[in-house]
Amino acid sequence: MNNEQEELKKIWQAVLGGLEVDISPANFHTWFKGTFIYKIKDGQAVIAVPSVFARDWIRDKHQKDVFYALKRLNNSIQSLDFKITTQPARNANIVMVVGRGDGGSGSIRGSRPNLNPRYTFDSFIVGNNNRLAHAVSVAVSQNPGKLHNPLFVYGGVGLGKTHLIQSIGNAILQKYPKKKIIYLSCEDFTNEFVQAIQGKRIEGFKNKYRDTDVFLVDDIQFITGKGGTQEEFFHTFNALHQKNKQIVLTADRLPKAIPDLQERLSSRLGWGMVADIKPPNLETRHAILQSRCREMNWALPDEVLYFISQSIYSNIRELEAALTKLIAYCQLHNQVPDNKLAAEVLEDLIQAKAADRTPEKTMAMVAEYFQLKKDDLAKKSRGRDLMLPRQIAIYLIKSDFNISWAQLGRMFGGRDHTTIMHSREKIEKELVRNPEIKRLVTEIREKMETE
Ligand code: ADP
Ligand code: MG
Repeated sequence: MNNEQEELKKIWQAVLGGLEVDISPANFHTWFKGTFIYKIKDGQAVIAVPSVFARDWIRDKHQKDVFYALKRLNNSIQSLDFKITTQPARNANIVMVVGRGDGGSGSIRGSRPNLNPRYTFDSFIVGNNNRLAHAVSVAVSQNPGKLHNPLFVYGGVGLGKTHLIQSIGNAILQKYPKKKIIYLSCEDFTNEFVQAIQGKRIEGFKNKYRDTDVFLVDDIQFITGKGGTQEEFFHTFNALHQKNKQIVLTADRLPKAIPDLQERLSSRLGWGMVADIKPPNLETRHAILQSRCREMNWALPDEVLYFISQSIYSNIRELEAALTKLIAYCQLHNQVPDNKLAAEVLEDLIQAKAADRTPEKTMAMVAEYFQLKKDDLAKKSRGRDLMLPRQIAIYLIKSDFNISWAQLGRMFGGRDHTTIMHSREKIEKELVRNPEIKRLVTEIREKMETE
């Protein structure tokens, strides 16, 4: 194989490495098997695919991802094309740009971190559910090692932890191309450690991790119970922390809630900044879908986007999967979706509770939680015992449903819309500064989602 082909192969491996994170293994193997870069010439990258099906699938679903991933590695690329072939080109002509004008690294180095270029702050939608986590992540990426160390981000499945931690990596890579960045999942760390022991390469392992500038470890909860790995991680952590190297960790829960975690490690994980990500409210979910549509160049009626946002509320990955499924269906059948079609196509994805949730029911559930009657919340009374439940109900309904201020006002006994808006703002503010209110709202939400 000649040098050019070797280079193309490296680029493609880096691109696939990034994409693999995002795509289910079955899809990844089915559609990317046998693909390679046919050539890069005059600003155009031509990707070889073995079949029409693979081409269509990649073009429909991942054209942009492939394009941006390539562009990050070779900034001269301006466009993308596909060629159905299994044979490499002769005389492929590749233009490698070394060093990008904007300060990024254009050449491929052996130590390129394994980051998905799609995970950036630009593509991350900020809402009340993740505002703090986002803000501290941005701060950390601007001044790694200086502000919050370690940064510990936690939250449920599919809420954006991986997106956020990789955005930190990508932003640092942009701003400080010389810094060594390691991103990996806790499972990879464990596997590599075990292999290093077996292969007697422990020194190399230690040097690699203790010598990095930025250490990003995803899903640290998987370190539970693994004594040897915890020990090694503990020493890596100390070595990096002492040198003011930035450490960022994600988990699905707080450090102290990770079972079988050595006390000394658990306490260190919480040394710096701890920020959580919660499920997004309706507006944020809607904004995420809008942004995905823009990214992928799809147009769907806004009403349908709201329908999807209302139907799937606890996992953004599933929210996006629903969008993709509906679009694939509509492309195949050449149809413009409305809510009815969306309900049919997405039947098995729609969350059971969403199907029969209404603003009225939320109002009733909040009343019940406070041992009141639903009508009490609509009363004119401004008594303190009714005011808080009413404000919480208004907050939750506005967060979860596409409902106007006027409609809300009518539901709550004909209140005018400034009163209603004020109620909502009140709770939003309290949620940030008053742990008691935060606990109440979380508890009510959990009750709604489990009952
Ligand atoms: P987690 O690691 O918490 O399980 P991910 O980071 O993998 O979740 O997020 C799942 C999907 O949802 C990804 O495709 C991600 O890009 C998307 N996503 C999550 N949060 C946001 C957000 N705030 N804005 C845009 N996309 C998001
Ligand atoms: Mg993740």
